[in-house]
Order: sequence, then C-alpha cells, then structure tokens
Amino acid sequence: MIFDPLELNYSKIRAYLDCPFLYRYIYVERRFQPPTAPSSLGLSVHRALARFHAAGGRGDLGSLMNHYEDCWLHQGYATPQAMMEFYKKGAAVLEAWWTHWQANRAEVLFSERPFEFLFEKWKIKGTIDRVDRLPGGTVELIDYKMGFEGKTAADVADSLQLSLYAVALGRAFDLKVASLGYFVLTETKKITIPYDPATGEATMALVRETGDRMLMLDMYRKGNCARCPIREHCAESEARTAA
Ligand code: SF4
Repeated sequence: MIFDPLELNYSKIRAYLDCPFLYRYIYVERRFQPPTAPSSLGLSVHRALARFHAAGGRGDLGSLMNHYEDCWLHQGYATPQAMMEFYKKGAAVLEAWWTHWQANRAEVLFSERPFEFLFEKWKIKGTIDRVDRLPGGTVELIDYKMGFEGKTAADVADSLQLSLYAVALGRAFDLKVASLGYFVLTETKKITIPYDPATGEATMALVRETGDRMLMLDMYRKGNCARCPIREHCAESEARTAA
C-alpha cells in the first residue's frame, strides 16, 4: 500500500507523539513490528466481540466462544503451550464480559466500524470499537481495552483516541456523543464520563500540529528507548544490546 502522508489515524499520531523515530520506522520506512502474543490475543478478542455484536448481541456464551475460536490468530506465540495459556486467558476475559453483558445489555448501534472524514488537508481514518444508542437520540462511545488495568475516569478524559473518535462520530456519522469511555476487558469494568464537545477543538489542533510535524519529518528522540518495542532495531536507540 502507498504511504499517504496526508492520511492520519490515531495510531500514527500516537506513534509520533511517543517518539518521532517510532513513527518513521513504522509508517515512513514501513518496517512493521511482528505480532506479539498480547497483540494477537487483543485482536482475537476484539474480533470475537465485533462478530458477537454484529450478530445482534443476543447469542449465548457458546456462540461468543465460537466467534473467538473462528477469530483466533496463531501468530506471535513462542510455543504451543504459551499459545494455549493466552487462549485460556482470552476465553476467561470473554466469559466474564458475557456475564456482565447479560445484566448490562445495550442497544449497540455499530461495532468495529471504520470511519473517514476530511479535516483541512488531512484525511482522518480509524475504526471505532462500539457505539451504543442512548435515550434521547445521543450515543455512547466505547473502546474495548485489554491490559489497561488501573485506568480511571481521568485517563478517559485525557484520551486523545477517544476524543478524536468522538469528533469522528459527529463529522462522519452526524451522531451526538453524550458519553465516552473504556470497557477494560481484563477487569470487566466500564469507565465512562460525559463528553464535552468543546474538547474537540483542542484535539483537532493537536492533530493539525502533529500532522504538520510529520509532513516536515521533524525527527528527534523523545521516547524511553529502554521500554520501546523497536529498541533493538532503531538506529537512534539508546538501548540496543546488539552491536
Ligand atoms: S528506540 Fe528510542 S529513539 Fe528509537 S523509536 Fe524507540 S524511543 Fe525513539
């Protein structure tokens, strides 16, 4: 696929904000990271939930587990035993989610929905995990998270991803967001807060500024190399162990 510097999504912006060299490595040089056990597990669980919602959300636990099996990704696991351990972890997470869902059903307007809208010279794209219809014609934006233990309402309020997706729901689908938040799958916990549309302006200003810096290829080391997923491959890394 051709790299379009005017096409932005949350992951690109996040990578640049974490470290411009990380953005360059993944998106400009297109040196993709291989899948890891957590990334494959997260994707498998997300896809299973999307299929469950697409089928109307009325299925029993067995149908959710069938979706999980169908959506299972085998890549990224060190051994077959490690894969089984992750599989069981994902199954337990989905079982807990399904039990929660029985007592907290919602009208899911859509799940895993791609969006696209124009913002000045940029094309903004992404995929939204879940949108629920609320009484009064508004909606709630939900992002499913694996491994986000300990997150709070303050983290939701600070989330660039959720804020950008709330703007997208207005611009791409003409929907009015009343609340937004995470469903932390590993804790079976939903954390939502009321949405303030006034935050959209600051979000899009950050998108514009970051997009312009990406276009100029404004490169500098910013991240913590010791914790960076590409520390062994990045030419600018301060934490390479290999010569
Ligand atoms: S290894 Fe260091 S310089 Fe390279 S992308 Fe990661 S944080 Fe940035």
